[in-house]
Amino acid sequence: AAPRDADTRVTPMMAQYVEIKAANPDCLLFYRMGDFYELFFADAEIASRALGIVLTKRGKHLGDDIPMCGVPVERADDYLQRLIGLGHRVAVCEQTEDPAEARKRGNKSVVQRGVVRLVTPGTITEDRLLEPGRANALLAIARVRVSEAEWSYGIAAADISTGAFTLSEAGESALAAEIARIEPSEIIVGEAIWSDDRLRRMLEETRIAIAPVGRDAPDGSAERRLMDYFAVATLDGFGALSRAETAAAAAAIVYIERTQIGAKPPLGFPVRFRRGATMEIDAATRANLELTRTLSGHRDGSLIACIDMSVTPAGGRLLAERLAGPLTDPAEIAARADAVAFFLGEPELRAQTRAKLKAAPDIARSFSRLALGRGGPRDLAALRDGLRAAREVSQSLAHLPDAPSHVVAAARDAGLVPPTLVDLLTQALADELPLNRRDGGFVRKEFEPALDETRALRDESRRVIAGLQTRYSEIAGTRQLRIKHNNFLGFFIEVQQAQGEKMLRPPFDTEFIHRQTMADAMRFSTRELGELESKIASAADRALALELEVFDRLAAGVLAQGEAIKAASAALACIDVAAALAELAAARDWTRPMVDASHVFSIEGGRHPVVEASLKQRGEAFVGNDCLLAQATDQAGLIAVVTGPNMAGKSTYLRQNALIAILAQMGSFVPAAEARIGVVDRLFSRVGAADDLARGRSTFMVEMVETAAILNQAGDRSLVILDEIGRGTATFDGLSIAWATIESLHERNRSRTLFATHFHELTQLTKKLPRLVNLTMRVTDWNGQVVFLHEVVKGAADRSYGIQVARLAGLPQDVVDRAQTILAELEAGERRAPVQRMIDDLPLFAVAAAPPPAPPKADALRQALDALSPDELSPRAALDALYAIKRLR
Ligand code: ADP
Repeated sequence: AAPRDADTRVTPMMAQYVEIKAANPDCLLFYRMGDFYELFFADAEIASRALGIVLTKRGKHLGDDIPMCGVPVERADDYLQRLIGLGHRVAVCEQTEDPAEARKRGNKSVVQRGVVRLVTPGTITEDRLLEPGRANALLAIARVRVSEAEWSYGIAAADISTGAFTLSEAGESALAAEIARIEPSEIIVGEAIWSDDRLRRMLEETRIAIAPVGRDAPDGSAERRLMDYFAVATLDGFGALSRAETAAAAAAIVYIERTQIGAKPPLGFPVRFRRGATMEIDAATRANLELTRTLSGHRDGSLIACIDMSVTPAGGRLLAERLAGPLTDPAEIAARADAVAFFLGEPELRAQTRAKLKAAPDIARSFSRLALGRGGPRDLAALRDGLRAAREVSQSLAHLPDAPSHVVAAARDAGLVPPTLVDLLTQALADELPLNRRDGGFVRKEFEPALDETRALRDESRRVIAGLQTRYSEIAGTRQLRIKHNNFLGFFIEVQQAQGEKMLRPPFDTEFIHRQTMADAMRFSTRELGELESKIASAADRALALELEVFDRLAAGVLAQGEAIKAASAALACIDVAAALAELAAARDWTRPMVDASHVFSIEGGRHPVVEASLKQRGEAFVGNDCLLAQATDQAGLIAVVTGPNMAGKSTYLRQNALIAILAQMGSFVPAAEARIGVVDRLFSRVGAADDLARGRSTFMVEMVETAAILNQAGDRSLVILDEIGRGTATFDGLSIAWATIESLHERNRSRTLFATHFHELTQLTKKLPRLVNLTMRVTDWNGQVVFLHEVVKGAADRSYGIQVARLAGLPQDVVDRAQTILAELEAGERRAPVQRMIDDLPLFAVAAAPPPAPPKADALRQALDALSPDELSPRAALDALYAIKRLR
């Protein structure tokens, strides 16, 4: 706004504020004023709305009121947490000199202030702000041109709360999948990426906080940054980093340096993430399968919530990481499963180990805080307890004859930190610890003789003061005299008004110096009290200084063991995960899957872990189902077309088989009686029909985009789950698309596929496509009511039972009756224009591949007979069935 003539004066404080704010335009500025952080102007309006705190005014700027709100310093963490949760960034601006210094410079002078730290979603380290079981990664994306039309994207993920730092590279099409795998808390991108509309839209759709930063650094300077940060003379030790990876890593480092201002997080050397080493799962599939959160965004009800029995935060994080990236190497998978099997076979050892782990604090995060200079006494204690637990776990797991390699390695790593460090921390730290080191009182008695001395001095002076109270009472001749303390007066004597009046006069006035008159009391001091006061104060100052020295010494001791501590933390997480998965397998009766390099997909009695758990709560049993999508001799997958009415369990069946593959490849046991899986390299799904209105796309558009991705990318080692393709459009359009999709999957992609559909016509395709099988959900009709048996059987559904389901849902009876009539008409019409003819006449989806083998004989009669279950039929239904069979002849 243009300054007004009336009043264009700017106070020195406002001038300072405006300057600091201008340097941090993309942050809310927390401006320190005494015991408060204050926010002004638009920041105040944003924060007051977001936090529900009062918006007031403070003074004027260029003639206008200044909107203001404030949060008390000691509760700032709570407010920060909420602002960060909403995706805001906050610049914390502190007073960087003593106000007394500023006063010395003259009474118009403002206290110097400076931003000490930017708090952003991806760079937090405080326990209060972090979720314990979730990694908190900052993701940097940089790109380099690889050809005229193509870019390659480097992706760096840094978690400064634990020091994890990984790099990967992807083409544009795989970028979204990488982001979904990592699930970062914040993404930083260079200007070039941010101004690319398509990328920008993709990034915005992730709903993750995005920080656009300036230009990507030129190549040479990116390398320099990395070498400086990690204090290495060459990057060769990190493996052959690509240009894109180097650029992304440097972008992450630059942002970390910018936000941490002087503090240096203890990032590990970058670890390159090999693509192909994990099962690729695109973002839509992750969301559809509800791996880490449900479609409505909650952790409750997701797969991770259902299987996470870990007892430590680091274990929870590792489990989530493994779930996000199931492996593709059968040997590595087997090594993980060996560790689970080991703990499964040793229930007692498992229980003991878990009990020890449960008591172990999060040493990785405490270590990072200490390294950043943001740690407190409780972080030291966390290391003391965590490392002690690590040692105990290490000892109890060492020298076990049958321990598999993972357990042996973890037992070794857990014991790497020298016991002297734990001893030192144990001797040094008191029982009760303050949150902040500046509060003092955390050093145990007898640890530091000089400290004990000053403390004795301080305590002695306090005793002397207690003695003084008795003496002054006698002198003044009253028992109502008290010695008290406050910050303004220090120690003082308080007496009642009448007594005070006397003390203002001789002979008392030589001893007692009047300080304050209250409503019904008077306050005095004496020279002696004053002296004691300063003695106590200087003893306390000295004690605190000594304690802080001890703190620094202990912290240095911890930092010197950084590598061993990180290894111990990783080892404990690894043991926690193995023991937790064993606990899970024991509690839910899961089995060890066989994972190999074949194409096999064979599951017996498979269950959906989340649906099973929720049914169990209601006292209902889950019906296990088999799934065969390829046998040992097959080089390509079968396509199972699954038909059956709504609510019969089709989606559950589709998803459970995908989840079993994921669980198997992450190294877990699986909810099945038996499972054999040839490694799945990519998992695709097109499940459910949630309208994505937020993205402004119709159901049908989303469906087609996802289907296109599958047809363009799936191969013979992929697993594909398709639920009701083509439903979002008019019947014949939809049927045609579904039909062509199946043919393409069969002839070209050759993936192991589950295809649920309402288009019963598609079941006829088995006549033409040899690797197509029909499966259906068994249902029976009982007194005209549909009963779902949740059992998957070979064959096609005879009808859809839509009307029965509608009745179950409470559609009015007259509407149901009318629908029956219409259905009968329609079905009669269909018989006059049979789909059968098309099946016979339409040439197959043209692929240059092998000629189709002779189609197996379809036998509708046999299928109908198979689908019958006499025990479950009412007499009336049995009669109907007989007529139906008769019609089939
Ligand atoms: P559809 O996809 O055929 O409409 P769903 O897979 O959504 O059906 O299943 C509907 C409900 O049926 C589920 O919420 C669950 O309660 C129950 N259900 C599904 N499969 C089974 C099963 N195998 N055993 C027991 N109950 C099941």
